[in-house]
Amino acid sequence: MHILVSGAGIAGLACAVELGTRGHEVTVVEYGHHLRLTGTPIDIRGDAIEAVAGMGLLTKIRKHRVRMSELTWFVDSRGEPVARLPIAEISDSDDDIELLREDLVRILADAVPDTATIRFGDSIATLTDGGVDGGVDVRFASGRTGRYDLVIGADGQHSTVRGLVFGPEEDYLRHLGVYFALADHPGEARSEGANSIYNVPGRMAGIFRYNGKAVAVFQFRSEPIDYDRHDLDAQKKILIDAFAGYRSWRIPELLAAARADPGFFFTSAGQIHLPSWHRGRVVLVGDAGYCPAFLSGRGTSLALTGARFLAEELQRCGDDHTAAFARYEARQRPYVTFAQGRVDSGRDRMLPATWAAIAARNKALQAPGTGAA
Ligand SMILES: Cc1cc2nc3c(=O)[nH]c(=O)nc-3n(C[C@H](O)[C@H](O)[C@H](O)COP(=O)(O)OP(=O)(O)OC[C@H]3O[C@@H](n4cnc5c(N)ncnc54)[C@H](O)[C@@H]3O)c2cc1C
Repeated sequence: MHILVSGAGIAGLACAVELGTRGHEVTVVEYGHHLRLTGTPIDIRGDAIEAVAGMGLLTKIRKHRVRMSELTWFVDSRGEPVARLPIAEISDSDDDIELLREDLVRILADAVPDTATIRFGDSIATLTDGGVDGGVDVRFASGRTGRYDLVIGADGQHSTVRGLVFGPEEDYLRHLGVYFALADHPGEARSEGANSIYNVPGRMAGIFRYNGKAVAVFQFRSEPIDYDRHDLDAQKKILIDAFAGYRSWRIPELLAAARADPGFFFTSAGQIHLPSWHRGRVVLVGDAGYCPAFLSGRGTSLALTGARFLAEELQRCGDDHTAAFARYEARQRPYVTFAQGRVDSGRDRMLPATWAAIAARNKALQAPGTGAA
């Protein structure tokens, strides 16, 4: 089959590997002009480890394992550690491999077989599903056109394919009241030390270090904010406004790093809940269909199991894509339900809403030898 995949993130690249190696002709269209490599370390958990093993990538992935969360402290305004982020829940074990998002993107991209091609700087503009015997006619933003047997929406939380086929995001989005931003902090890259997280009520700013790099990380609680997802300056302004009035610890310095970074990444903690992930010849994989929100730590794992189950079921069902999509959904749904149910404790720990809640969190997580909270 000739399969079009929208998005070259984790889900899209995994689909290209899984489907390409099974003999399908795959075209991936990525909105960015190159692979998007920003991101803090992500986790591959549970059965997603089997999925990468099935792609023959487990050894490579294990080689890139990082254990940065073991070294993460909550600090006070002087930068003194006051509590420790519990590793048991978020860090790696035999059932959990933590690695840089950029390493996973590169490993998947290197594994994409010759049967698949990635086209950068373009995206789907319109889709017309020709029904049972037809294909899907696609017009791209560039003006190109094409006909495909199947279309996979792997274009992330704010998926264009989902919008075109299933309707507006508001119909499926569950906002969790938190925004997240990330920026390179090159000035900090060479310095040693633990990762640091500093809280003021309802907000956190942090510095995470790994492999000679450093990133400034931010989270803040907020009602839904309406903004243009293609306007980086507008997103930076939202972040800066969210921290207005707070100048303690290293907040001004981290905001300056955000202002300066052209690769600045901004998103909301939102979950996508759809009653079904397929319609006609179009199917969704990864955040596009079932974003669990970054607070769950399971979005990457869902993208990997999703790509694998979909490819396996298309192989099993031959030409019957409708049966394959239904079987994919039946296998993937329990993983999604589990992941989407795991966000609340993470939010309360990372973003206590008041100074009293920050102190209580620090007391609860105080590690021996870290001094008073
Ligand atoms: C730059 C970036 C940084 C991230 N950083 C973090 C992080 O620090 N922590 C974390 O937990 N999660 C992060 N994520 C999200 C995380 O990668 C996903 O939640 C998870 O891996 C599931 O992957 P996905 O492929 O479904 O979505 P994503 O990884 O978001 O990939 C979606 C891809 O689709 C592309 N795309 C979007 N719209 C279109 C379109 N209209 N046409 C074509 N392509 C399109 C995007 O450019 C992107 O490459 C980040 C995502 C991105 C894109």
